Amino acid sequence: MSKALIVANWKMNPATFKEARKLLDETQKAAERTKISVVIAPPAIFLREFTSRSRGARISFAAQHAHQEAGGAHTGEISIQQMRDAKAKYVLIGHAERRARGETNDDTRLKVAASLAKGLTPILCVGETKRTQSGEYFNVIAEQLRTALADVAANKLAHIIIVYEPLWTIGSDKTMDPREMQMMAIFIRKTIVDSFGEGGHDIRILYGGSVDAASAPAMLRDGDVHGLLVGRASWSAVEFAHLLTAAENA
Ligand code: PEP
Repeated sequence: MSKALIVANWKMNPATFKEARKLLDETQKAAERTKISVVIAPPAIFLREFTSRSRGARISFAAQHAHQEAGGAHTGEISIQQMRDAKAKYVLIGHAERRARGETNDDTRLKVAASLAKGLTPILCVGETKRTQSGEYFNVIAEQLRTALADVAANKLAHIIIVYEPLWTIGSDKTMDPREMQMMAIFIRKTIVDSFGEGGHDIRILYGGSVDAASAPAMLRDGDVHGLLVGRASWSAVEFAHLLTAAENA
């Protein structure tokens, strides 16, 4: 799959700017050897330096988190507008680790709308914390999607990326079975089509949760996804290069 989109979520890594610059340069070289679209989500403090260092390169950058207000008394926050000014093209919204710290579905609604208004592509993360036999998790996902997209016009759907990232696979040694992901991709599209009509088919869906070079190809081939969100496997340039090669050959 040559047009896969792979988002590297560096979270709060690496420890120093020197290490981050090395990881960026090596990741960029690995990305240039493939046709994969690579987006790096570095810690915000590295963002402006990275976008200017990588000007003209094929990789793009995402903010890991941003505040929906344009300004004001929000100590410690960085606005979507400021991320855009630092040349980010994407912003992660509703990542499980932010939801665990109190980000609500309603917050994701405000962030999705503000990102679209400011010209950043929202990467909306949805996913249940646990699964039971009753299938309750489908309601959780539907609610996350409906609320986050409530203020979006149908003609903007193609500018949004959804990541299905169940909490029980993040940071674990469990990846999801691609056939289960395929079912979830159908459910996500159906939920969006129910609210927005046929335009809902244009939405891009990624999978995230413990993906590595070994599991990426099957997910890209059989999971009905346009790409992947990768955490730990993107923190080593060597490991990430293997993942990109495996994805390229999927
Ligand atoms: C993530 O947290 O976005 C993620 C995908 O992490 P990991 O790949 O380490 O499970």
